[in-house]
Amino acid sequence: MSSKTKNMNANANANTKLKRKKKRVCVFCADKKKIDYKDISFVRRFISDRGKILPRRNSGCCALHQRMVAMTIKKARHIGLIPYTVG
Ligand SMILES: [Zn+2]
Repeated sequence: MSSKTKNMNANANANTKLKRKKKRVCVFCADKKKIDYKDISFVRRFISDRGKILPRRNSGCCALHQRMVAMTIKKARHIGLIPYTVG
């Protein structure tokens, strides 16, 4: 094997690793779990320390469940279970 082919193989491996790194599955799709606005300890996973709703890239939810999470958080806020803002 020449040094040129070795380098090409190394590049191919680096690319496949990079693509596989971001494999993430939505927690609701994976567990078939339903989100409940009364389950504060669970809902808190989807809000930041400032009380904001985490974006989809951080929460890891799919589009459908991210919308449901956002609605649930708003519901919980309205009732007073979680704050609108912190600090
Ligand atoms: Zn989902």
